[in-house]
Amino acid sequence: MNIVIFGPPGAGKGTQSDKIVKKYNLFKLSTGDLLRKEINEKSELGIKIQEIVDSGKLVSNEIINRLVEKIVSDKKYKNSIIFDGYPRNLEQVKNLDVLLKENSQKINLVISLKVSLDSIIKRITGRLVCSKCGTIYNEFFNPPVKKQDCCNENTLKRRKDDSADVARNRFQTYTDTTEPIFKYYKKSGLLKEISGENKIDEIFDQITAFIKWIQGWL
Ligand code: AMP
Repeated sequence: MNIVIFGPPGAGKGTQSDKIVKKYNLFKLSTGDLLRKEINEKSELGIKIQEIVDSGKLVSNEIINRLVEKIVSDKKYKNSIIFDGYPRNLEQVKNLDVLLKENSQKINLVISLKVSLDSIIKRITGRLVCSKCGTIYNEFFNPPVKKQDCCNENTLKRRKDDSADVARNRFQTYTDTTEPIFKYYKKSGLLKEISGENKIDEIFDQITAFIKWIQGWL
């Protein structure tokens, strides 16, 4: 089963996909995480893309498609990927289709989390991520009280692109370039829309209901 999860920045895509990964033993392919890894490693690519990611604009399709191809063509992950933050525009949608076809796979479910800009700003400016284990907290909604051992003031960091201004930019980019691709997935009957304003577990229950339904077809 391959799943795509959509949502504006701060919609809870990362949180929900982590829960999906755990329950269904999938591999999370987050292009944002892959890019941040390159930036942290200060690789040639990382240096090239840092400014773009920090500004909230999109990195070139060529770079993104190269990163995705490595994973989709790896037999280890065959039919067990959740795509988080990819595809983000029509060219990436088409590229993903070609890649999946070449590797005898397809998308089985597309989830779109809907959240308003007001909620997004609150969520994004409060987000804290543990640099060791990757656990995501929010100082307003999910403060790091009952936390993992490694999460402390040294490891809990804000993402550099998590400011209100960048959040507005990223929301706009999402509305302009990512939302139009829903039409494509709607036509194929794969798209399921869920309110991302609800509690984390309620959203997850809705997602698992859709997955159960899909599994009945596999
Ligand atoms: P995310 O963690 O998914 O919110 O992504 C953080 C940033 O990485 C985005 O604001 C973009 O600059 C870049 N990025 C992530 N995924 C993509 C993608 N599929 N295409 C282009 N840029 C991306």
